[in-house]
Amino acid sequence: METALTIKGLDVRYGPVQATRGVDLTAAVGGVTALLGANGAGKTSTVMAIAGALRISGGSVSIFGQDMTGAAPDAIVRAGVAISPEGRRVFSALSVEDNLTLAGSVVADTATALDRKNAMMQRFPILGERRRQLAGLLSGGEQQMLAVARALMSGPRLLLMDEPSLGLAPQMVDAIFAIIEELREEGISILLVEQNATLALDVADHAVILANGAVAAAGAPDDLKNDKLLQAAYLAA
Ligand code: ATP
Repeated sequence: METALTIKGLDVRYGPVQATRGVDLTAAVGGVTALLGANGAGKTSTVMAIAGALRISGGSVSIFGQDMTGAAPDAIVRAGVAISPEGRRVFSALSVEDNLTLAGSVVADTATALDRKNAMMQRFPILGERRRQLAGLLSGGEQQMLAVARALMSGPRLLLMDEPSLGLAPQMVDAIFAIIEELREEGISILLVEQNATLALDVADHAVILANGAVAAAGAPDDLKNDKLLQAAYLAA
């Protein structure tokens, strides 16, 4: 069976610091896979390695059946992967629309890029309303919408979402999770990094828990939710 993502034995190091050790992870096509764990467990390092933004020191990464180990970020984008990064990373000094235009520059066909930009402003009406406003003036939740919209501009089949709910008001957290459900219905595969394990396990089809850079548990969300030891050790809020 083809997967959206298969990682085997992933090692990421920052000099002497080993951020991940031998991480195995698969994300099914069309599913939401939650990647959970405490601060410093290695979640962001895993995601950045998949995106090609960090050099990996061991293991393999395969995307929709294609070996992409060590590939550059632009090749990863062409393989169908986009990322909405931790901390949102929108360009604060550019308008909402210019943020989308810039993200669309990876699309070869300018008409397609323009169509997508307009589709994003319809899909996220707040972005349409604020298209001329500087992105830095948006609320945290609105910036998160923009970060997701930017990622979608490349037309990904696999979306990596790193802590999309972090620091957001409860209503905005609900809005983000509603978008995750919508994207899944559209057939986009999602790898969702979350510190809000309860919400993530509610939306996910499969979950992986990292601890100290290694996989501590993986399985069906209901099984992980019902495991009191796991909950206490890794998922307690
Ligand atoms: P968080 O939720 O805090 O982002 P995380 O699970 O995403 O945590 P990582 O950010 O991947 O974890 O960090 C994994 C380990 O790598 C930690 O020990 C962290 O201190 C270390 N680390 C992360 N980035 C760097 C870096 N640029 N240089 C050195 N060590 C780093």
